[in-house]
Amino acid sequence: MVSFWRVNVVGMILTYCYRLLPSKAQHRALEAIVEDQRQLYNAALEERVGAYRKAGLTRTYVDQCKALTEWRRSDPEAASFPLCLQRWTLKQLDEAYRGFFRRVKAGGKPGFPRFRGKARFDSFGFREFSGIGLDNGRLRFKGMPSGLRVHLHRPLPEGVPIRSCVFRRDVKGWKVGFAVEVATAPQRPCTRAVGVDLGISTFAALSDGGFVPSLKAARRAERGLRRANRALDRKTRGSRGRRKARLALARCHSKTARARLDHLHKASARLVRDYDAIAVEKLNVKGLARSALAKDVHDASWAKFVSILRYKAECAGTRLIEVDPYDTSQDCSGCGIKVLKGLSERLHECPHCGLAIDRDLNAARNILHRAGVGPGLPNVAGYGMRAGGNLVGESVPNCSRIYGTLH
Ligand SMILES: [Zn+2]
Repeated sequence: MVSFWRVNVVGMILTYCYRLLPSKAQHRALEAIVEDQRQLYNAALEERVGAYRKAGLTRTYVDQCKALTEWRRSDPEAASFPLCLQRWTLKQLDEAYRGFFRRVKAGGKPGFPRFRGKARFDSFGFREFSGIGLDNGRLRFKGMPSGLRVHLHRPLPEGVPIRSCVFRRDVKGWKVGFAVEVATAPQRPCTRAVGVDLGISTFAALSDGGFVPSLKAARRAERGLRRANRALDRKTRGSRGRRKARLALARCHSKTARARLDHLHKASARLVRDYDAIAVEKLNVKGLARSALAKDVHDASWAKFVSILRYKAECAGTRLIEVDPYDTSQDCSGCGIKVLKGLSERLHECPHCGLAIDRDLNAARNILHRAGVGPGLPNVAGYGMRAGGNLVGESVPNCSRIYGTLH
């Protein structure tokens, strides 16, 4: 599994995730480290809060790093784990503070960074990849008895150093994510462009008539979830049965999440493979999620989809263009005149030019039109050039076979 982290000037930082295969002793060591880091996190938070209350002082990440170095010098127990590991934890707290103040500034009502209980702390990491080594699929660092096996189901990109890494505990055990800087591909010449309209009944309608079906993972998992929830409710608090039932529920949720993510990865990979330029609507997910369709919107996970699409496009040299979503479903893609219709009307019928197509297809074509007006896309057909016909997408002969066809 690869996930997008951030884009910078030189290349792009991707995170490559792998399962860990710890021995029993190593499992105990992982648990011990995460507990140690939780205590460090809470202590650092206490120090920040205390310094401000008593003296009005703001303790920064740099201040705390300096204090950490001194502590490590004076107390041999403090130095039983690598420095970069402890710095990662301090940085997490720093990020929590920054996030809090950023949201305060933006006028929100964020919660202040909290002291973390055992159930609310399940990761640790290395701020830089130092004090840790990866050779022959084994991770070695201070505090870990012998080499920790990594299940390298896919190779890490060669010749580039690992920047940092994060260990995370989930319902299946432990996994590690390596942050690696990869080069982005040069932009491909644009011969195939597509407009993508993200929807609910179909996940995505394409401007050339293809579509990506919707998964509805949450709807499908509903029964299992209800059953797991009921089982949990019946168990006595603090019992072993309750712990098991809670785990079963967590597995149920994680299965749904994995199925959804798999769907998003496959759909985005196909789009990036088949097209040189992809146009999507700029999303306002917050507004949508508040509406009656909330559950379906979460299920469709459009924002996640666009973020996956973005990094995949960057890697493959495909252009991703985000366009103004205003009235894409109302305007006629043939003549440009607004044809008002309700949410339930599935067909777009234009009284002005006679165009009659599926409403999602009409929206997808509008999205493609809007992307085409920008510079650098000479191959995208002009607005309304060929009403009713396929646009540039025609040059992809197999697209309907791959995605199914929408009419
Ligand atoms: Zn029309």
